[in-house]
Amino acid sequence: MRIAAPDTRVETVNDAVIRFLSAPKMLIGGQSVEAEDGDNYEIFNPATGEMLARVPAGSAVDIDKAVCAARAALEGPWSRLLPAARQRLILKLADLIEENGEELAQLETLNNGKSIMLSRLIEANSSAEYFRYMAGMATKIEGSTFDVSIPIPPGTSYQAFSRKEPVGVVAAITPWNFPLCMAAWKLAPALAAGCTVVLKPAEETPLTSLRLAELCREAGFPDGVVNVVTGLGEKTGAPLVAHPGVNKITFTGSTETGKLIGLQAMRDMKRVTLELGGKAPMILFDDMDLDLLGVTTAIGSFFNSGQTCCAGARFYVQSGIYDRAIEIIANITRSLSIGSGLDPANQINPVVSARHQAHVRGCIASGIEQGATPLLGNSQADLGRGFYVAPELFTNVRQDMAIMQEEIFGPVATITPFTDPEDAIRMANDTRYGLSASLWTRDINKVMRYVPRLQAGTVWVNCHNLPDQNMPFGGYKQSGIGREHGTGAVENFLETKAVCVAYS
Ligand code: NAD
Repeated sequence: MRIAAPDTRVETVNDAVIRFLSAPKMLIGGQSVEAEDGDNYEIFNPATGEMLARVPAGSAVDIDKAVCAARAALEGPWSRLLPAARQRLILKLADLIEENGEELAQLETLNNGKSIMLSRLIEANSSAEYFRYMAGMATKIEGSTFDVSIPIPPGTSYQAFSRKEPVGVVAAITPWNFPLCMAAWKLAPALAAGCTVVLKPAEETPLTSLRLAELCREAGFPDGVVNVVTGLGEKTGAPLVAHPGVNKITFTGSTETGKLIGLQAMRDMKRVTLELGGKAPMILFDDMDLDLLGVTTAIGSFFNSGQTCCAGARFYVQSGIYDRAIEIIANITRSLSIGSGLDPANQINPVVSARHQAHVRGCIASGIEQGATPLLGNSQADLGRGFYVAPELFTNVRQDMAIMQEEIFGPVATITPFTDPEDAIRMANDTRYGLSASLWTRDINKVMRYVPRLQAGTVWVNCHNLPDQNMPFGGYKQSGIGREHGTGAVENFLETKAVCVAYS
């Protein structure tokens, strides 16, 4: 079912979605399967708190089968396909995502809780576009030639060149905040590079990845090229990371899990890309266009209900506009309507799980305990069934408070004044994270002066939270290692082989 207009409310959930929820299966070696030991677990609809489906809880046995299937495909039919054939398959998958876009979007909103508008525009639409962008890379992989200076034996000449080869079997592990989109960010460049993949989606939100697996089969990928194994971090993710048949790990998730995975990867010298947490500062200068405060608040801070690694969680506001800005930001935040993601008019939707709801509320309570001032004060309000948290803004926040330093990953932001821009830059950089930041000013001199001073993988100016498929994306400091997107994304899945040919 094609994607509806983004702002159309979902009155009745699509029949295909209901059917899919009745028995979602993993994909291993081209077969739809339950877990080998029959284990499964419940996932919930965050808008109602009710059980949505039961999904297989894969174990080390399922992971082993999936990795073996991926290896067999890598050494078999997949390696024999011409790059142009890989490109066609990836394009076909993009078309199928679009054709089934409304179903995927509804599935995502039911499983993750997010606005149907975001599910349509970002999870379904932009994932299809991401596959299209990366499909083109399959036919543009190239090496180099090298002049060499080897003098012996006399009379011998050398021709040296490099080949780019797929790194091998890829373990892709994704988080719950943008489930389908994150799967696309991993699968598309890996497949374009000629790798095979075992995808382990987040335990809370596996449904669109399982549906994507079915679409991969329908697109005609050879068995074993894409495998999806669902389950928990320790029981399913850890054996995947440790499996000797895996050559490369691409992980998006929390900094804590990323460190564990990085250590394990180094033990086996597996290639690894880590996209981790963030605590983005937004620096608002006196000369900014105050009409943009709606963007800083609704898109910068509260996009996806604040469950974004790039969320502008820390406002630093220059003293000349501080009082006015606080008033506007607080009014905008109060005006955001809270409710189910199936109605696109709701801008704040439930967070992903009861556990995460308790975490976000706990962070708010700790801010109050430590002496910060909550401006709105209704974050513990009972908003009915479902995992809702009303947004909160804090003033009087010290740099050393947990709400300033730790990723909350919910609709919570801090607002801090500054007079000297040097102080703003120092405070902005004063966290272990460095994923993204933004500057808000009309003065190009400030832009050019302060962009290089921010320790962040992405700096937006007069906008925020807008990653693009063609812009390198990744973190400084503890926000990760490596970059996704653009041509570099495919490089992440390639090895370089130097070849030297002697001739006389
Ligand atoms: P998480 O680290 O708890 O889990 C991420 C994934 O890792 C899940 O699939 C989980 O099952 C798996 N996992 C957990 N323990 C594991 C282990 N020991 N071995 C292998 N796999 C394991 O993160 P989350 O709560 O799902 O996602 C939220 C986090 O993701 C936030 O910190 C957010 O900032 C980050 N994130 C980062 C980016 C980025 O591009 N930098 C994008 C989105 C989300």
